Amino acid sequence: MSYIEKVDPELSEAIKKEAERQEYKLNLIASENYASRAVMEAQGSILTNKYAEGYSGKRYYGGCDFVDVAEDLAISRAKKIFKANYVNVQPHSGSGANMAVYFSVLQPGDTIMSMDLSHGGHLSHGSPVSFSGKLYNIVPYGVSKNTKMLDYAELMEMAKECRPKLIVCGASAYPREIDFKQFKEIADEVGAYLLADIAHIAGLVVAGVHQSPVPYADFVTTTTHKTLRGPRGGMIISRTEELAVGINKAVFPGIQGGPLMHIIAGKAVAFKEAMGEEFRQDQIQTVKNAKALCNSLKEKGFDIVSGGTDNHLMLINLNNMHITGKDAEAALSKAGIIANKNTIPFETRSPFVTSGVRLGTPACTTRGMREREMELIADYIEIAIKNAANDRLLSETSGKVRELCSRFPVYC
Ligand code: PLP
Repeated sequence: MSYIEKVDPELSEAIKKEAERQEYKLNLIASENYASRAVMEAQGSILTNKYAEGYSGKRYYGGCDFVDVAEDLAISRAKKIFKANYVNVQPHSGSGANMAVYFSVLQPGDTIMSMDLSHGGHLSHGSPVSFSGKLYNIVPYGVSKNTKMLDYAELMEMAKECRPKLIVCGASAYPREIDFKQFKEIADEVGAYLLADIAHIAGLVVAGVHQSPVPYADFVTTTTHKTLRGPRGGMIISRTEELAVGINKAVFPGIQGGPLMHIIAGKAVAFKEAMGEEFRQDQIQTVKNAKALCNSLKEKGFDIVSGGTDNHLMLINLNNMHITGKDAEAALSKAGIIANKNTIPFETRSPFVTSGVRLGTPACTTRGMREREMELIADYIEIAIKNAANDRLLSETSGKVRELCSRFPVYC
């Protein structure tokens, strides 16, 4: 019997059910993944007991010798995998990492040019319901109406007009390669700082299957739990020592107190795993799987936003299927497939309803699925979306999805 089972049977039951859900449902949520047992062991370790305000070698508490080792390892490994010089591994989240960047170089009211939420940007890039939209003057950019891709000439014109102090590039739902070099040229032209938020594509960047922003951006932020496959958390890379000094102050004591040393230890483990060939192959396969799934769905008549994908995710415009994102998400769920409704560029519905669904391949690739399985998954998606009212068929499909998942165990 586990300790949790003994101490808290109610919670233990919820964890068991969640483990079963993760094992037998097909996870196509683009921002999720399965952390390794080693990462989880570090997160669940006694490092959770330690307060360590400050930075390695300069703490406000005694007894930090060994957590210093953990943080030093996380930093040196992050520098290695991202080919970066200045790294802060303390942000508790991706949103917090972005907040620290803003606080380090901006004043309230300054102008940020960033991707609109409905075109693929993240809440923390300037949505009116986020601190970012409340504190700063946000000039949102989107994808071009024709191609549904970024148009760098348009972005240049926009930047010249609004003269932002910071340009944010990077997204939560943009299926195409982002050209960080071109963003840098735009930022330089108008004297703006450049922040590349690679929360979604960090693993692809490490594996070399997506252009790295590190040579170009003043700041690179990421979460550590998406394609990077680490513990839930954030990280910041700075281009110069001067910028890094500002970031360190903004993270602590600016917006955080004690760092989560057990999570930082989990980050160290994940970064070590990310140095290996297996990780690199998985990232390559993640993109191959996304392309395979995308092509199979296109053959079935699905309208893929921008016509395809270059990374780990795709967006389906469901308008030609006469179903909303909300209803599609529900039908997929009944068929055992977990995905999320998503706004599409030039969206006409509310974010609670939406006209799209976002699909991603990091999690199913981690459990070993390949192109052959993507074809099967496309079949199941087609059945679910075209038969959303047919509970019998959805339930039958969920049995097939369960059988597929049991052939690719996550942790067993
Ligand atoms: N930035 C991007 C591009 C994201 O997609 C996300 C999360 O989905 C975040 C930042 C925020 O990360 P967190 O949920 O850890 O605050």
